Amino acid sequence: MSHAEFPASHTPLAAPVQGEPYLLTPGPLTTSRATKEAMLRDWGSWDADFNRVTAEIRQQLLAMAGVADDSYACVPLQGSGTFSVEAALATAIPRDGKALILMNGAYGQRAAKTLDYLGRAHIALDKGDYLPPQPDEVDALLRAHPEVTTVFLVHCETSSGILNPLRELAAVVKAHGKRLIVDAMSSFGAVPLTVDEVPFDVLVSSANKCIEGIPGFGFVIIRRDLLEESAGRAHSLSLDLLEQWRYMERTGQWRFTPPTHSVVAFHAALEQHAAEGGVQGRLARYTRNRDVLVAGMRELGFETLLEDRWLSPIITTFFSPEHPAFEFKRFYDELKARQFVIYPGKLTQAESFRIGCIGQIDEPIVRQLLRAIAESLQAMGVTLEKTAA
Ligand SMILES: *Cc1c(COP(=O)(O)O)cnc(C)c1O
Repeated sequence: MSHAEFPASHTPLAAPVQGEPYLLTPGPLTTSRATKEAMLRDWGSWDADFNRVTAEIRQQLLAMAGVADDSYACVPLQGSGTFSVEAALATAIPRDGKALILMNGAYGQRAAKTLDYLGRAHIALDKGDYLPPQPDEVDALLRAHPEVTTVFLVHCETSSGILNPLRELAAVVKAHGKRLIVDAMSSFGAVPLTVDEVPFDVLVSSANKCIEGIPGFGFVIIRRDLLEESAGRAHSLSLDLLEQWRYMERTGQWRFTPPTHSVVAFHAALEQHAAEGGVQGRLARYTRNRDVLVAGMRELGFETLLEDRWLSPIITTFFSPEHPAFEFKRFYDELKARQFVIYPGKLTQAESFRIGCIGQIDEPIVRQLLRAIAESLQAMGVTLEKTAA
């Protein structure tokens, strides 16, 4: 395969392969040309060069989380992000422990379902589709349920796009002396999250979100003493995080066949992440994408699900217009014909759709998207009343 198949881009960011759409989805997402090119080579899973790549990734992820000593371990695990969440829950919650799940969307619900499979007791604070859990509510629940050992929180609930008040909630959890598991899947790498500011015990994320790699593995950053005390707790051979870590520490290799191409692509993506200015650089670009998107969509007459203060720089939910000619499937197809793939909504009540701000997307591409949306509405015969801002 020659590099000529990846055409030069028309913006400072690499365009997707010619004719293919931009993925405005929260992972898989549009990756850079350099990240795609990193996959043009095959790697032996036992090879020293590949092991070095794995070691560097683990070290860089710990640094991104602000870990400066060996108090935390980084354990990569094959599979999508959910596999890592499941492994983390099984590792961090004792079999006779009890979890409090802070729930405001699909990923909190998935954690509860996972605990049902694992046979771990749990209670939930369920805020519905999009309201943030409040620190005083969590405080009251932990007072009423002193038997809770562990609190689980989704940082950015990707199903609505809300950025939950992690810092305030973490402070309450720690004031009660409980353990905190953060699903930072869709935020890590773009929203600052370091141990000195957020005293988490476990953080879970994956390759194909804000670090802009391709799917294939997730990773768990976990307090080492918590990991080491988990011996015998795992319910699953392949999801045994402690064994995965021990094997990697001992041999430098993954315990079972690693997603080699995904790993080297992630290594390249991390290099670009650093070159962009790390977490702050990425946050700035995604925030700009979000601001241009939201302003442009409001200008077209769309409304956001969330108030401005809860909007994440990751993904935004818009209500589907009431207009009789608006149909999501048709809107999707019109946009795809114009090289943009968006995401259906995940609300239980209202009709909605979502647009991601992450991946190799920048302001000129967002402006191009806004033009494509205006054209699509016109093609569908949908006219919108502009809402007063
Ligand atoms: C993407 C995501 C996950 C993991 O989903 P997979 O489909 O298994 O990769 C978990 N939590 C959140 C908040 C996510 O955005």
